[in-house]
Amino acid sequence: MNRVVIILCCFLMSGFLLASCDVPVSEGQHTKYVMVIHGGAGTINKESMTPEKEQAYKEALTEALQAGYDQIKEGRASLDAVQSAINVMENSPLFNAGKGAVFTHDGKNELDASIMDGATLKAGAVAGVTNLKNPINAARAVMDKSEHVMMVGRGAEIFAAANGCDTVPPSYFFTQERWDQLQRMISQEETGHAAFNDIDPKSSSISGVSGKDKKFGTVGAVALDKSGNLAAGTSTGGMTNKKYGRVGDAPIIGAGTYCNNATAGISSTGWGEFYIREVAANRLSSLMELKGLSVDDAARQVIDEIGKMGGNGGIIALDKAGNVAMEFNTPGMYRGMIDENGKVSIFIYKE
Ligand code: ASP
Repeated sequence: MNRVVIILCCFLMSGFLLASCDVPVSEGQHTKYVMVIHGGAGTINKESMTPEKEQAYKEALTEALQAGYDQIKEGRASLDAVQSAINVMENSPLFNAGKGAVFTHDGKNELDASIMDGATLKAGAVAGVTNLKNPINAARAVMDKSEHVMMVGRGAEIFAAANGCDTVPPSYFFTQERWDQLQRMISQEETGHAAFNDIDPKSSSISGVSGKDKKFGTVGAVALDKSGNLAAGTSTGGMTNKKYGRVGDAPIIGAGTYCNNATAGISSTGWGEFYIREVAANRLSSLMELKGLSVDDAARQVIDEIGKMGGNGGIIALDKAGNVAMEFNTPGMYRGMIDENGKVSIFIYKE
């Protein structure tokens, strides 16, 4: 009798498995995403974008997602996926991170990055570094190879170089478009034609982002690996024309980056001062943990609150079930996601 029941169960189960393989995923069925990225939020309009530029962004975002996905597919940790995706964007001049970093008022490039592991709540960050090719790798080194969470300036550079991170001469970060963007901002500031958040809207052609957004273009990634672990990271050149060693939210754990397997992995982009005051990334996680909000509702609330404070930008998040949130209160945000089957979706404007 027992044997009959077991055979019957096996028969029914194999039928179910076969059926579930054959049935295409129908609408409304849950799609599990394994990675979400952003390449900055801002006044990204169709009018200031050429088809070629749009295509270049789409290709770079796809390459970043693919690099992260390959790590996950091979069974590596979400931290590796985050690092790989961010490395692709850091190596592209299109984004305000790594190679394409914006200039400070003094004509330098000072880069910030952070990374966090949702399984252990370990984190690493660097700020104000000038000769590290991939600041996210330095953040990872701080997390993995030191007893600290954050290192800045020369100390961070020495530590990162000693721990195998690639160094470059500061001139590596020179791009003509970013340089011209700085010159325009300085002259507008000098002639009194520009306030902090009011720069000639035509001043940037590099990204289709108006000059109003001198602080946008950061990159970030969140990944979910096969073991169910989340990781998040953010990398930036900060804000064009920044002065006095200004540091934004990107390297601040809890503001620019936060990750907790119990809730979500989060990366921010936008007007950093507001994200620091909102403790944006941690707030999103706390809204999920303490108020039971979905990742989507929590992201929307954080962006609403930032808007009410007078700030703007975007935020991406991925929860442990593979649900994605991509919220922003600017006209656009470069963003994309990839699901567990490798299907890529890229968006730029408000859809
Ligand atoms: N949040 C960054 C900062 O304030 C800038 C950005 O997201 O593009 O430094």
